[in-house]
Amino acid sequence: MRQRQPVSGDFLASEKGTQRKKWKGLLPVALIFPNRYGLGNSNLGFQLVYALVNSLPGFVCERFFYQEGQPPVSLESGRPLRDFPILLCSLSFEQDFLNLLALFSTGGIEPLAEKRSAKTSRFRPGQPLVIGGGVATFINPEPLAPFVDLFVVGEAEPILPQLMEHLAEHLANEEPEGLLRGIVREFRGCYVPRFYAMHYGEDGILNRIEVDSAAPSRVRRLVLEHSEVAGHSKLLSPDAEFANLFLTELGRGCSRGCRFCAAGFVYRPPRLWQAESILAALAERPEEIQRVGLLGMEMARVEDLAKIADYLLHEGCALSFSSLRADAISGELCHLLAQSKLKSAAIAPDGGSERLRRVINKGISEEDVLCAAEALARAGINHLKLYFMIGLPTETEDDLGELLLLTDKVRKTLLGVGRETGRMGNITLSVNSFVPKAWTPFQFHGFAPLTSLKKSIKFLRKGVAGMANTRLVVDQPGNAFYQAVLARGDRKVGLALYAMLQGQQNWRQTMQGCGIEPEGYAMRQRGQEELFPWEIIDHGIDRRYLWAEYRKSLEEKSTIACDTKRCRRCGVCHD
Ligand code: SF4
Repeated sequence: MRQRQPVSGDFLASEKGTQRKKWKGLLPVALIFPNRYGLGNSNLGFQLVYALVNSLPGFVCERFFYQEGQPPVSLESGRPLRDFPILLCSLSFEQDFLNLLALFSTGGIEPLAEKRSAKTSRFRPGQPLVIGGGVATFINPEPLAPFVDLFVVGEAEPILPQLMEHLAEHLANEEPEGLLRGIVREFRGCYVPRFYAMHYGEDGILNRIEVDSAAPSRVRRLVLEHSEVAGHSKLLSPDAEFANLFLTELGRGCSRGCRFCAAGFVYRPPRLWQAESILAALAERPEEIQRVGLLGMEMARVEDLAKIADYLLHEGCALSFSSLRADAISGELCHLLAQSKLKSAAIAPDGGSERLRRVINKGISEEDVLCAAEALARAGINHLKLYFMIGLPTETEDDLGELLLLTDKVRKTLLGVGRETGRMGNITLSVNSFVPKAWTPFQFHGFAPLTSLKKSIKFLRKGVAGMANTRLVVDQPGNAFYQAVLARGDRKVGLALYAMLQGQQNWRQTMQGCGIEPEGYAMRQRGQEELFPWEIIDHGIDRRYLWAEYRKSLEEKSTIACDTKRCRRCGVCHD
């Protein structure tokens, strides 16, 4: 029997924070998360935009999620996508790009921006203004450039209220081109793809970006410098990925500089919010919600964590988190963890050996991992998930051998604590294929051949087979390969996605039919001087720094963590 698809009423009945506004006299905005409700509603950025736009008196903002093959209707009022003159699209994962186009198609919206504009003299319902945002678009917006009229690059808070007010005033009166020109003149952080033309050499490699005189040569991303009330959950639901978990940011960005992590680079500089601002956010938690998730714990000051721990203990809250830095498990944290009812946690050594962890600049040792495992087990958390990547630059079979040894040592640590406490633990070993991302030192490096990734998985399976209480979970290298094509993709890849939507062939055949060689995008080693399509965005990071970091990684040299007071290394601070 076919499973019943959930309908909006199912979600709304148990959701807290839903905004229902009467439409009369208001400008409707569709907020789209092209994936499941559960994922979108766990995303703080998505929630923040929802609350922020609805807080503006002239607007009504309703949510759309992706359900395969279903015409999209808004969660709040069940209206179709064609009723909205503005679509705000929130993209966190490259894999959602195709979902977004599918959602447009089933919703009766032409995906191609050029075609939409050609049919209208004003942005309006059915021919809407499409705005893109979210971390996947400010790492590399280019695969979506043919479909989006305007990208808001960076963090939304510094621009969104003013931009929406501008739209309220001009949307109905100005033709699309004029409106977009006005926006790039007036606002920073706005990227309008139609004002930039890409030129390729005979080798198919980008060699020039031609910029319209109306637009800046590069688009500087937006950063929230200060927060009175730290970012926190605005919507709570038992159906969200983090069910009824009140998320609160301790800061943004990360000081560690792991060389594979795009978020660690594009959210620079690392910022820690003041304890008062975090406590102000926690005070907004609905009384009946007792589980709190803290984001950015690896950066928190010990004294702030102590204040937060006191507050949570006093309020009778349980602490939850998705992943911890293995070298950041302090006494306060353990105390708090012991009070929580948490049974499982994740540690991400990412690289299997000490050597590989230097290559990726992870900055944690085997001893850190084992100490963390022991501390967590003693706090009653004895189901551990260990995250690793395969296919990292310079990886050999010896590194995989060390990965297995480390897993076995963690297992034995859990076993030792389990014998004392009578609680036996277990391990989930989660292994993903490494995908090189734009704006990281590994943007120059190629994705590993599928054959070698499959061989590594076979090797790990064999190694784990003899380990009791240990389960191996691996991703499909083929999916990671597709992600690798999108991660460093350009507008040509975007047009291939469009063709995929209309055709019957699989993604590889469609790309080849569009003249795209996926291997070239995913696996080609890039040179120091190559111009990248995503460099339309200016994150303030000096590309020479990224290259130097890449070279250091190959020499297995580490880089110290950020010190925003003094450091000028990457170019983001004190520029
Ligand atoms: S300039 Fe230094 S402290 Fe600032 S983000 Fe770059 S590496 Fe970190």
